[in-house]
Amino acid sequence: MLLLNPGPVSLTERVRRSLLQPDLCHRESEFFDLQDEARERLLATYAIDPAEWSAVLITGSGTAAVESMVASLVPDAGRLLTVENGVYGERIAQICERYRIAHERVRSAWTGALDLETVAARLDSAPPGARFTHVAAVHHETTTGRLNDLPRIGELCRERGVSLLADGVSSFGAEAIDFGDASLSAVAATANKCLHGVPGVSFVIARRSALAQAASRAYYLDLGRLARLQDARDTPFTPAVQAYYALVEALREFADEGGRSARHQRYAALAEQARAGLAALGIGTVVPPEQSSVVLRSYRLPPGMAYAALHDALKANGFVIYAGQGELSRTLFRISTMGHLTSADIDRLLECVAQALR
Ligand SMILES: *Cc1c(COP(=O)(O)O)cnc(C)c1O
Repeated sequence: MLLLNPGPVSLTERVRRSLLQPDLCHRESEFFDLQDEARERLLATYAIDPAEWSAVLITGSGTAAVESMVASLVPDAGRLLTVENGVYGERIAQICERYRIAHERVRSAWTGALDLETVAARLDSAPPGARFTHVAAVHHETTTGRLNDLPRIGELCRERGVSLLADGVSSFGAEAIDFGDASLSAVAATANKCLHGVPGVSFVIARRSALAQAASRAYYLDLGRLARLQDARDTPFTPAVQAYYALVEALREFADEGGRSARHQRYAALAEQARAGLAALGIGTVVPPEQSSVVLRSYRLPPGMAYAALHDALKANGFVIYAGQGELSRTLFRISTMGHLTSADIDRLLECVAQALR
């Protein structure tokens, strides 16, 4: 079965085999060597300076990393503005509610771009006692495949001395992220999307200066504590050891294949092949290609065809596609180009879609 859903992804044999390494106690030096290698290689994916940044590993899915970032890096006296145009942006606001983090929301339609004019106005109009210290945004909103304008959000934050927290769960490893942006405080991401590892381990790339001022609202997800212990070759809890094996092997493979820009190019070619092929079958994109990521695209369901019919026809041929979320489940479907996929796979997918339409 080939997975065209946005993670977990189809694995390479190399990564799959890495799961079968020796049993390992997480209190032994061999585990801490693995943890160190994962943390170093995560920073290397974007040539991030280890003196300024730390890669903090978390056992849990991508949401655990986002929750840990938001719950820890907005200080007790901080105030967060969330910028939302989909499920994952809205999730950040839900996390704030659970932890009672002072926040306000700027919401846009799920199919639209972020409303950055309102973001600027809200940052500027906050009264002195209620100034925003942080902005949180999703880099690639997987709800629709839209690549949000992170550089522009960073600019708005930099001009105002506000820190930016980014959900990069479905972009880290493939899309450009400027870690030189002085406003960028942290990026949350996961092993099992663009990095091609298995589910179970996620991470936050955080500025050391932000970690030093972190709040301690969460217990398991206390990012400051996780960072301190990992820096000391330690861990507070039992990590998903086998998922660490796979992450390290996936990161070695990532480097061997040419790193971030090679992965971006490969996804871009597959995404364009799928877009052009589906367009030829009369199936259009929901977000214009130039505003989309290379990681995932959403497409309009052909008139008269329910998602389930298309899904089942493709699954019978070995492909798993992905439904829209909420209201969008009736109008769109999604195809991700992450994971171990080739151009021949996309050709075969297109043939199967054509067959399903007939
Ligand atoms: C996948 C994803 C998440 C996390 O989802 P999990 O199911 O917890 O892995 C968060 N944000 C974005 C943008 C995502 O695509």
